[in-house]
Amino acid sequence: MNHATQQNLRSSDSFGGRRAVVIGGSLAGLVAARVLADHFDEVIVIERDGIPDDLREPRKGVPQSRQLHGLLARGEKILNDLFPGLTEDLVADGAVSFDVGLGLAWHHLGAWKLRCATGVKNVCMTRPLLEAHVRRRTFALGRVRRMDQHDALELAASPDRSRLTGVVIRRRDGQGEPELLPADLVVDASGRGSRTPAWLEALGYERPEESTIKVQVGYASRQYRPRDPSKFSWKGLYVLGSPSDSRRFGCIAPVEGGRWMVLLAGLFGDHAPADPDGFLEYARGLPNDTLYRALLAAEPETEVFTYKFPAHVRRHYERMARLPEGLAVLGDAHASFNPVYGQGMTSACLQAVTLGEALVEQRRRAGQGEIAGLTRRYQAVAAQVVEHPWQMSTGEDLAYPETEGQRPLLQPVMRWYTGMLHRAAQVDREVLVQFVRVMNLLDRPESLMAPGMFLRVLLAARTAASPAVSAAAPGYAG
Ligand SMILES: Cc1cc2nc3c(=O)[nH]c(=O)nc-3n(C[C@H](O)[C@H](O)[C@H](O)COP(=O)(O)OP(=O)(O)OC[C@H]3O[C@@H](n4cnc5c(N)ncnc54)[C@H](O)[C@@H]3O)c2cc1C
Repeated sequence: MNHATQQNLRSSDSFGGRRAVVIGGSLAGLVAARVLADHFDEVIVIERDGIPDDLREPRKGVPQSRQLHGLLARGEKILNDLFPGLTEDLVADGAVSFDVGLGLAWHHLGAWKLRCATGVKNVCMTRPLLEAHVRRRTFALGRVRRMDQHDALELAASPDRSRLTGVVIRRRDGQGEPELLPADLVVDASGRGSRTPAWLEALGYERPEESTIKVQVGYASRQYRPRDPSKFSWKGLYVLGSPSDSRRFGCIAPVEGGRWMVLLAGLFGDHAPADPDGFLEYARGLPNDTLYRALLAAEPETEVFTYKFPAHVRRHYERMARLPEGLAVLGDAHASFNPVYGQGMTSACLQAVTLGEALVEQRRRAGQGEIAGLTRRYQAVAAQVVEHPWQMSTGEDLAYPETEGQRPLLQPVMRWYTGMLHRAAQVDREVLVQFVRVMNLLDRPESLMAPGMFLRVLLAARTAASPAVSAAAPGYAG
């Protein structure tokens, strides 16, 4: 069955609604639309930008798309479940796929992680390439259509405000009046700047509580072409230090066209500048000089693009006492993480799958096309789904004394154990594999605390701490 026809079939446990409207046609909105196409007669994606069919360049509504975007293995798996053969298409279009343990040289806490097969693969490409493929596949579905160059202005609700009835939209060219686009379900995938809290307030609801963890990340990305790629024993490179000695993170990821996407990120104002000399100098200040030396052996192909990211933000819709029926919030509009951990797109995919499951459950409980109860059930499970990436990324960042945010009671114990894990992953394959699986959101963090693993981590960390082991590793990453 080809993917276009496959997705026009609706199974007997589908929700069976008439129209869903998605606000935002970026990654979260597209993946949500794909899932909704299994349950609604019509799915309309409202997008501010005008997006040409074959666009493979960054666009205004997603300014972060000039920056390095890593796709975690769990996100890749979900995307391939939803769009069969997607990775093959991406690789045919120049994306680079490799086993994380073999292809990635990872320098952290003063030593290299073990290089060995992990069975976990990552596919690397620019963000616009990924979005172009997902967009093409989504709009090839008969039930999904797009309204580009339209702004969502506000939510429309029933006279008693208990249920959403649609979205008020307006053309961006200023032609025409605002109009109501009726919908049974409104999905907000409009990103971190989501106006749903304000729109709900205007309808007489509370705003959702927000958790924020302030990290003041500065991003700077630039594309390079290595002069002789065969000189490098790695395909991708991570270099970072520890909270006691560095605020900097450097990464090289291979992307389409035989290029490298180079990212230099720093916390708390230690940001890489946009000028080329400053960019190189900043790379020299990383805790290890492998990335700096790699840049000297490559030609820059673009200017340096910078981006500031102040804080992790999570909106707790699941805690609201009252919510209108017919609303779902997902992607960065729900939770947005320090991008260094590469979790945003995967988190959006996980939430979209959750929405699909909630729609199946809705049909079972409430009958075909009945929306009541869906919003609350979806937001409750979506909150659980973002908990894992949230804990992982904020847990790492709370180790820095400058980080502003609420520290969990067990934070010092977690920090101690994470340090052990990082060291153990320098020498022990089993620990490395499990660590990589958790980082890629394939397994739960609890798997790293199982009794057998715990003992293994402690023993391996002792071996790794020996100066001979730490000193031996760097040579092979050159
Ligand atoms: C610097 C940086 C680096 C990142 N790196 C990674 C990474 O390595 N890996 C990863 O997985 N994630 C990364 N992310 C996160 C990732 O970009 C997002 O998680 C991902 O784009 C999904 O976001 P989204 O679709 O929810 O929102 P966005 O991508 O922000 O898209 C929102 C969309 O909604 C549209 N829109 C907004 N308001 C309206 C409106 N009122 N009406 C109509 N349309 C509207 C916008 O035009 C846009 O198309 C990074 C983020 C940043 C900031």
